Amino acid sequence: MNFCSACGAPLQLSTPPGDDRPRHVCPACNRVHYQNPRIITGTLPVYRDRVLLCKRAIEPRRGYWTLPAGFLEMGESLAEGAIRETWEEAGAEVDIEGLYAVYDIVSIGQVYVFFRAALRRPQWKPGAESAEVRLFAAAEVPWKRLAFPVIHVVLSQYWTDRERGEFPLHNQRIDESHWSLVQA
Ligand SMILES: [Zn+2]
Repeated sequence: MNFCSACGAPLQLSTPPGDDRPRHVCPACNRVHYQNPRIITGTLPVYRDRVLLCKRAIEPRRGYWTLPAGFLEMGESLAEGAIRETWEEAGAEVDIEGLYAVYDIVSIGQVYVFFRAALRRPQWKPGAESAEVRLFAAAEVPWKRLAFPVIHVVLSQYWTDRERGEFPLHNQRIDESHWSLVQA
């Protein structure tokens, strides 16, 4: 961040009174520009014993498989954002079944939230960001061809929970070491 979005003046890095860390502060209008982690919300869309995945048509990780998920927009709830992203990226209509996982990717300032969701019908259509959309049974998941470590983590937890018939809420940190789960 270089310039004040309120008045256009160049920003300075300084610790505001009462704060405990440097912020981007505008010396002209005194506005403090906070930077905070962003929320990515998505679904695990399930139809019978299979999960719907999207092959990415865009960088980063073009050609790798992912779950429908994207940045939460202003004015929508986590679940609404997840349903919207599932429609935009997979052309699929889902009903939310429950909050399933929250992952902290502290190193890049992202929080991922996934809901378990039921496909209303076996219909989908790749959106602009997807090259292909299809269902995968557990044995068919392209584990090494998943787009991001967080996708590997949530899918493997899901299949384990499904065998047990219980879906407890998951929360963990995802860091650089998790890249060993997928093909770099
Ligand atoms: Zn300013």
